[in-house]
Amino acid sequence: VVELGMPTRTVLTTCAYCGVGCSFKAELKGTELVRMVPHKDGGANEGHSCVKGRFAFGYASHPDRVLFPMLRDSIDEEWREVSWEEAIGHVARRFTEIQAEHGVGAVGGITSSRTTNEEVYAVQRLVRAGFRNNNVDTCARVCHSPTGYGLKQTFGTSAGTQDFKSVEDCDVMVVIGANPTDGHPVFASRMKRRLREGAKLVVIDPRRIDLVRTPHVQADHHLQLHPGTNVAVVNALAHVVVTEGLTDESFVSSRCEGYDEWAAFVALEENSPEALEEITGVPAAEVRAAARLYAAGPNSAIYYGLGVTEHSQGSTMVMGMANLAMATGNIGRRGVGVNPLRGQNNVQGSCDMGSFPHELPGYRHVSDPDVRNTFDQLWGSTILSEPGLRIPNMFDSALDGSFRALFVQGEDLAQSDPNTAHVQAALSALDLLVVQDLFLNETARFAHVFLPGTSFLEKDGTFTNAERRINRVRPVMPPRTGKHEWEVACEIAQAMGHEMHYDDASQIMDEIAATTPTFAGVSFELLDRVGSVQWPCNAEHPTGTPIMHEETFARGLGRFVTTPYVATTERSTRKYPLILTTGRILSQYNVGAQTRRTANVVWHAEDVLEIHPHDAEVRGISDGDVVTLSSRVGATTMRAVLADRMPVGVVYTTFHHPVSGANVVTTENSDWATNCPEYKVTAVQVAPARAA
Ligand code: SF4
Repeated sequence: VVELGMPTRTVLTTCAYCGVGCSFKAELKGTELVRMVPHKDGGANEGHSCVKGRFAFGYASHPDRVLFPMLRDSIDEEWREVSWEEAIGHVARRFTEIQAEHGVGAVGGITSSRTTNEEVYAVQRLVRAGFRNNNVDTCARVCHSPTGYGLKQTFGTSAGTQDFKSVEDCDVMVVIGANPTDGHPVFASRMKRRLREGAKLVVIDPRRIDLVRTPHVQADHHLQLHPGTNVAVVNALAHVVVTEGLTDESFVSSRCEGYDEWAAFVALEENSPEALEEITGVPAAEVRAAARLYAAGPNSAIYYGLGVTEHSQGSTMVMGMANLAMATGNIGRRGVGVNPLRGQNNVQGSCDMGSFPHELPGYRHVSDPDVRNTFDQLWGSTILSEPGLRIPNMFDSALDGSFRALFVQGEDLAQSDPNTAHVQAALSALDLLVVQDLFLNETARFAHVFLPGTSFLEKDGTFTNAERRINRVRPVMPPRTGKHEWEVACEIAQAMGHEMHYDDASQIMDEIAATTPTFAGVSFELLDRVGSVQWPCNAEHPTGTPIMHEETFARGLGRFVTTPYVATTERSTRKYPLILTTGRILSQYNVGAQTRRTANVVWHAEDVLEIHPHDAEVRGISDGDVVTLSSRVGATTMRAVLADRMPVGVVYTTFHHPVSGANVVTTENSDWATNCPEYKVTAVQVAPARAA
């Protein structure tokens, strides 16, 4: 037992981890952080927390932290500690030289969903105005980019429709490709509370996740589909709604367009649950019952995760869910909606801040001259009207020699992106790789410059959670590195000839508000006064917008989009007969850089492979055996865990540890619209690992 005593100082801030965005009071004794106490008035968590937010903050003071800039001429050399002045001068000079030799488009930058809105905004400005191209992308590319695309096409805004509180009025929850118990624990508790009160539950997932059956909750229907067949299932659900007359005709006729064409498509016999049963593996009767339940509501809500987006048809599936919600009138009031559960704490914010190569802040296309003019006037820039490179394009262009230098802010590409061998080859081909992070991560192995980043305890700014809630992140201590990350972006820009200066992070938010209509009413002063606010927050919505599309959709009429099912090209074969799907566990977070460096690491010290007992038995694998997991792009080893929650023919693992390197086996297949990787479907073989 540790005697904590009374804190000498308390700072209200936001969790460093998932997209729930819980508020905490950080309690300090002197300069030492001793406790994180969930804030009872936190809009997202109302006094609750999970193990990560409450206990996993030790990484911020871990001895592995690098607190000074480092340079080396080649990746074979040892790092050399340098001053900030030398590091920034070197980075600016090398980017300038490479652009002079290989063209303006030969360089780019990647923003992080773990940094603040203000830090992301500064980096995208560095790229657009300092590098003078649109080669900026975000790590949301590999998670929720299909959400941004799909919800914009159908509703007009790249964001979830509801606040978390709305679940209290939900009568039927449909959870698709998400495991909230592990991924979004505080919101999962809220869901379970509502389920215990009697709400109905449909789970659509290949695995029997915790929500399907817990001591107090049992799903009414578990549609245990074959991985990769989401779109077939959503079309089958829509078929039932349309052909059984379950459509909300009044909502559709007054609020939407494109219904007739879409309804004619889903009504085709080929989209019936019976016709699709063999493809999806879901009994037709279960699909019919789930569709009737959802349509009957009266308030039905869809909650979804990366099991929706990380597919070759991720964007199609997002639009398919939006179609279903519009057809049944489940949009625009409490208890309904289409709700993405975001993985990292600022996925929503990093996308909002103009990190996609085709969109300026506020999701406005770079081809729009009026929007470009807004920023050009302010920045003295000439923003290009053509979209820049996405992350996978950057890798491919690095390999063909046309892309030569990259700035990576807080993202471990070499561990988190698919097909590790391909990623490593691309990073190795760069003339200049600049990594800004807390630790020397896997990507830093290929870097020429390392710039130390700040932990959430040192940051001053905002995170935007999965419900569009803008939360303040307040510094518990000054940057241990001597500089805020937005200052580093400013100094590189200035050294490259682009005047970019802010006195503090609040000035950056003021610039965001001045240029981005959905943020027009947001300021640190407002957030300090009211706690948090959900965008849009502007003259029309001065107190923010918990629920979107109430009277009209952001694009005017909601748009039905026809969503034909197209099977992924990734199929099981004789050589690779199993399908691997990936996810995460409660006690670890993404690539594990933070959670592996806190006390909770002892709980799950390795990635394991979950395999059905039958699949294990036929391969001579026992529980705990070390196995080789191989695909057409690579192979790795890990321990097998026999799990009857897995269906036969499907295996599952996580990607929290660099040792097992789960992404060694995932492929470069991706979503047709956004290039979000198809992490959820990889044909693999599993075999006992040979003894060395
Ligand atoms: Fe942090 Fe998410 Fe846990 Fe809340 S639920 S404490 S935001 S990790």
